[in-house]
Amino acid sequence: MSQKIKRVKLKRNRIWVTILLFLLTEIVIVLFALMMVGYSAVMMIKPLIYNEVEEAVKISDDLSQGADISSYGRDHIVTDPAGEYISISGEDTRMTDINLVYDSDYGFFSADKEGAPSAPVYTIYPDREADIFAEVGDSVNGSNFETVIISDIVAVYNRTTLANLINGGKRTMYLPFWTAVPMDDGNTLYVKSGIDIDLSSVAELMVLMRIALIIFGVIFVFMLINVINSIVTYNRLTRLFFTDPVTGGRNWNWFLLKGEPLVRRHRGKTYAIFSIGLEKYLNYCLINCNAKGEKVLCEIDMAVRQQIRRQDICVHCNTSDFAVLVKVRDGADARTRSQSLLSTVENVIAGTGMITHIGEYTVDVLCTERGRVLPRNNFDIEAAYNNARTARASIPAGTARAALFDEEMVEQRRWENTVLEHLSSAIDNSEFIVYYQPKYDPKTDTLMGAEALIRWQSPEFGFLSPYKFIPILEENNRITEIDHYMLSHVAADQRRWLDMGLKCVPVSVNISRIHFAEPDLPEQIRDIVDACGTPHELIEIELTESAFFDDKQAMLNAISRLKGYGFMVSMDDFGSGYSSLNSLKEMPLDVLKLDAGFFRGDTSDERGKIVVEEAIKLAKSLNMRTVAEGIEEKGQVEFLAAADCDMIQGYFYAKPMPGSEYEKKMNNAE
Ligand code: C2E
Ligand code: MG
Ligand code: MG
Repeated sequence: MSQKIKRVKLKRNRIWVTILLFLLTEIVIVLFALMMVGYSAVMMIKPLIYNEVEEAVKISDDLSQGADISSYGRDHIVTDPAGEYISISGEDTRMTDINLVYDSDYGFFSADKEGAPSAPVYTIYPDREADIFAEVGDSVNGSNFETVIISDIVAVYNRTTLANLINGGKRTMYLPFWTAVPMDDGNTLYVKSGIDIDLSSVAELMVLMRIALIIFGVIFVFMLINVINSIVTYNRLTRLFFTDPVTGGRNWNWFLLKGEPLVRRHRGKTYAIFSIGLEKYLNYCLINCNAKGEKVLCEIDMAVRQQIRRQDICVHCNTSDFAVLVKVRDGADARTRSQSLLSTVENVIAGTGMITHIGEYTVDVLCTERGRVLPRNNFDIEAAYNNARTARASIPAGTARAALFDEEMVEQRRWENTVLEHLSSAIDNSEFIVYYQPKYDPKTDTLMGAEALIRWQSPEFGFLSPYKFIPILEENNRITEIDHYMLSHVAADQRRWLDMGLKCVPVSVNISRIHFAEPDLPEQIRDIVDACGTPHELIEIELTESAFFDDKQAMLNAISRLKGYGFMVSMDDFGSGYSSLNSLKEMPLDVLKLDAGFFRGDTSDERGKIVVEEAIKLAKSLNMRTVAEGIEEKGQVEFLAAADCDMIQGYFYAKPMPGSEYEKKMNNAE
């Protein structure tokens, strides 16, 4: 089961968390400062009001007992339950639309506070003459009495007024109000009361307030600096996190972060993802220097970015790889874009010896049968890029090309992994079988030799042709294990057949060109053959034609040594692609194997025949014998016999066969 590794999502909201925390802290500080000031003011005013209320209650008690209350020197009013005046002394300056209730149990609370207060209840009405209540207005109802007074003191007596008052010799501020006391007979007595607020205490309060504000200001500035600093740091880190150190452009993290939402958002648009890579980039860096290599990458980055729109993305991801995401009209447009990217990059790297490979994956628009565009909820940019890379990996080495992804490529990749994983156990369990394909003299039909060809009899995957696994092993540098395996098995078979008294003929073994990178290859071959005690002349080494182009000197040296040890050396697949006449001149080979391609197609092709005849003549004059591969028809055999070809290896005579069958052919040859 494929487990999807969760990518780290890069979130930008951390900065908002900081700002939110900052604001919350500020609010808490301000509220705390206000509460402190308010609490102090309440503590200052509350006892004064209580005293006044108590005084009014006392006057009411006296009045109930029939006493003359004029001695108190307070303006007062008595009203009946309907609110009609019974008596009035002084002027009625109550502001009846605002009132506050005093309950002997609960203290003060606003008139519309829920829950009926228990008796006795006293109501306080502001006096019209007090500036303070004039300012308070409706806000008194529903508020805390003391808080209203405090906020009003602050509002009316601002700093300058307060200073002027104090400087003008005023020590107190008079705050008049009326207290309503319900009487036993159902009437209500209103007594004009008032409190003197100590201005110096208010001034102290103001100082306290100012200190609180200063502290608040300092904290505010400190936190503001902190927030700005974290924003700057965040931006710097973000830039660093998304910048490619080589090109200075965007990097892979950016591609992941921006690419996926971009494609998901534009579900009705087709996108193409390209994976651009450079073959032989490391060689270029090795021969020149890393800085030069990086300069080339910068130029590619710039050239590609010039070719795409601002909303498209191009990033350098690793070594010489670039990931490109572009919006395209359709698949055909994507193909055009990959071709123009190819020529752009090829222009940049011209003369460097590097080769461009581009893999392409198209993100098509998903629609229902009725043509409704479906969301791309499952779109994974990493997987899409991997597909583009898989397409790129399918491009053969040495060719500058763009390749389009298809599902078979994934299967191929999977198979590649399976082969590599199973190779060691397959060798240990002898799952590889040596098949022999005889070579015959076309003139006499006698057995002249054979080629050893590998087959994989896998208990899991069945009977497999070498085409299924040899190219994979070559690509992954694991072919040498097969070469050793085949060589030792062939040498052992030959020894056994010799011991059985059979007339053995030379058997050629394919040795991969990668193997020639090992300087002691001839000695390895000699030792493997000697370990079986097989005469060297019964083993022939087949080299594929392309092998001759790697390191000529090393190749020449290896061939000479192999020949020195008594092995025959042949060139396989001659004429299958590379013009190797030059290598023919230089390499002291024994056998030339003409590629099956010469004999495919039209048998009456006169020009083809001339080429074959001349190739055979050329080989002869260089003292080489010739083998024609892939011969299936009698006419071909006759033609080759007439052309003096030494041997024929093809289905006409025999297909590759197991050792036991080949053994019988040798018997017949005796
Ligand atoms: P090759 O070395 O050129 O081998 C000749 C291929 O042509 C063989 O395919 C053989 O079966 C096939 N062939 C021979 N006669 C005819 C014919 O008349 N008609 C047709 N259609 N095909 C014919 P095979 O055995 O599938 O091997 C394919 C290739 O795999 C070989 O080409 C060789 O490059 C590689 N290979 C096979 N065995 C080994 C091995 O043990 N080591 C290495 N390194 N490569 C091997
Ligand atoms: Mg061969
Ligand atoms: Mg061949």
